[in-house]
Amino acid sequence: MRDNISLIETPPMNCSKCRREAIIYQRYSGMHLCSEHFTDSVESRVKREIRKHHWIEHGDTIGVALSGGKDSTSLLHFLIKTFGHRPDITILAITIDEGIAGYRDLSETEVIARRYGVPWHTASFAEEYGTTLDGIVAGQGGDDRRSCSFCGVLRRRLVNRIARENGCTKLAFGFNLDDEAQSVMMNVLRGDTERLTMTQRDNPGMIPRIRPFAVIPEREVALYAHLHVGSLADHGCPYAHNALRGDVRRLLNEYTWQHPATKFAVRTLGKEMQGRSTGPVLTPEICPKCGEPAFGTCRTCAVLDEVKQDKRT
Ligand SMILES: [Zn+2]
Ligand SMILES: [Zn+2]
Repeated sequence: MRDNISLIETPPMNCSKCRREAIIYQRYSGMHLCSEHFTDSVESRVKREIRKHHWIEHGDTIGVALSGGKDSTSLLHFLIKTFGHRPDITILAITIDEGIAGYRDLSETEVIARRYGVPWHTASFAEEYGTTLDGIVAGQGGDDRRSCSFCGVLRRRLVNRIARENGCTKLAFGFNLDDEAQSVMMNVLRGDTERLTMTQRDNPGMIPRIRPFAVIPEREVALYAHLHVGSLADHGCPYAHNALRGDVRRLLNEYTWQHPATKFAVRTLGKEMQGRSTGPVLTPEICPKCGEPAFGTCRTCAVLDEVKQDKRT
């Protein structure tokens, strides 16, 4: 985490916008920024992105997927600061307990939600699916190579249902620019044309998802968190080490050192590719098995079937 924050130590530089001491150098903009102008820079870019996509509108109830880490906590902070005074906008927090021993501490998340004065809703894999992520990995003989993809599918479905049941009109995720660029790059490296060119379609049962921090690099979200939300327990998922994502993260970070705008370019590439698929367009359906919205085959039920099979063998 240390290098993510990357505070400027020597020599002290002045902010490019005022005379105060800079705390960060934005390589891609060529600007040194003080704490105040750095905060302005982050918040104004996020606001611009929200306006551009009409992500937050009059009457919205925004469910923030709150893990308690720096990204989602910073997002909650930003949303309360920016929209908390608006009587026409409601903000609440949703936390999913995947059942990973030593990773998710719900009491920490509850404290954060209470600090920001938002209602807090929680749900667990154990109650919803009758198994935990630890149980799923154990069922695979301890092989955790696919745990991130299983976990993602199961989490997405559960957070969507909780949001829908609590009247959310938007679901907000703390994904940052690095997450977005990594996802695009992973699809490129897998040669997954289908994912890259997929058309994002509406399904009435699926709450529209927004990612306001997708334009902010991870190290800036970390610095924003450091300045505004204080220290957070960052346990790190014990299953994350095996994923392709780790390799892609290193690759992008190294390349960005020489070419500072790379992550922005990769994200733009991903957005430009979306909707270009010439294959059949999947129609939104309700899964006959679980009753939840799906496109084509329900991925949640497919994962649950596979996991049950592992238990039997
Ligand atoms: Zn300044
Ligand atoms: Zn299903």
